Amino acid sequence: MENEYDNTYIPYGRQAVDEDDIAAVAEVLRSDWLTTGPAVARFEQGVSDFTGAAFGVAVASGTAALHAAMAVLDIQPGDEVLVPALTFIATANCVVYQGGTVVFVDVLPESLLLDPADVKRKITPRTKAVIAMDYAGQPCDYKALRNITKEHGLALVADSCHALGGRYGSQRVGTLADLTVFSFHPLKHITTGEGGMLVTDTEGYAEAARSFRNHGIILDHHQRHSQSTFRYDMQELGYNFRISDIHCALGLSQLGKLSAWLKRRQEMACLYDALCADLLGVFPLHCRDSTGHAYHLYVVRLDGGIDRQAVFQYMRHNQIGVNVHYQPVYQHGYYRSLGYADGLCPVAEEAYDRILSLPMYIGLTDEQIRRVVMTLRQAIEVAA
Ligand SMILES: *Cc1c(COP(=O)(O)O)cnc(C)c1O
Repeated sequence: MENEYDNTYIPYGRQAVDEDDIAAVAEVLRSDWLTTGPAVARFEQGVSDFTGAAFGVAVASGTAALHAAMAVLDIQPGDEVLVPALTFIATANCVVYQGGTVVFVDVLPESLLLDPADVKRKITPRTKAVIAMDYAGQPCDYKALRNITKEHGLALVADSCHALGGRYGSQRVGTLADLTVFSFHPLKHITTGEGGMLVTDTEGYAEAARSFRNHGIILDHHQRHSQSTFRYDMQELGYNFRISDIHCALGLSQLGKLSAWLKRRQEMACLYDALCADLLGVFPLHCRDSTGHAYHLYVVRLDGGIDRQAVFQYMRHNQIGVNVHYQPVYQHGYYRSLGYADGLCPVAEEAYDRILSLPMYIGLTDEQIRRVVMTLRQAIEVAA
């Protein structure tokens, strides 16, 4: 790790920011509105158009968007929400923010996507919602999930922080669930520095989310200005989860490149697939349809005979920034302290010992990908 800043180091992910992005941000800094201005609305429109959803509500982070989703669904103490075990902690934390109970659901061994059969098994009379997570960028089986949530009268939320621009058959990510959440953290497809968005086709959800991100107030100060009133009413407890025009200007500029970037991510995945096909004991995750996969991550599973920890260390030592996504959420100390124990989701637990995320970002060259796979080949020889 002492060589992390060596220029030969290949990280597992990083942002791509160019002069156009910088100019777009500078333009906002010279304008009248730094926050709650026109760039926010334009970014919301841009992302919702891109995804095909009717409404977009931009907020301070993907986590804030998840929190808003739980709030607009009115998740409360006593309510259960089904959450995949193999995800970033925020997917579960948003339920806890609202006082709800997280019920962890296992994933499918081949794709590491939410297992619809386990969703079914874990529904109780207290279940209110299901959060699907499009692991690595591949949309979950929304047809199966929709059937289940419809039958049981549950809300379906998509944590699509990995899958901006993904497709499920002919349907775009953003239109597959009641509420869909994106993150614009620098490691995601496009960045605002920090930022997130909730998209939906339900106007009432969008309105509630707009209020939630602004203290629970119904009118924002522009609306008050244009309607010449000083009155505003806080009707629910909300937060300041707003995002600035500075952030959104960066996001808008990045959004213009998203289509080309998605193509490049698919190309990189194709090259990894081809190169990894020659490696014994290395299995790329199952991919239903590579054209619908947004490839936030490129994840391989290592055969049981290979010491994953040794491979990880060899790669890091040789300047390849591999990573592991994720430890099952309930194995974190906080969730253990709430009483969750090992054995809840055996497929996720087993996968956690076997998976490795290889570098995947805009700016990674084919030559670097070859170096990654060559190093992986050496690592496996050493670790087998
Ligand atoms: C990145 C991410 C989040 C959180 O997004 P932030 O913008 O960092 O708050 C939530 N869920 C998943 C699956 C993510 O990858």
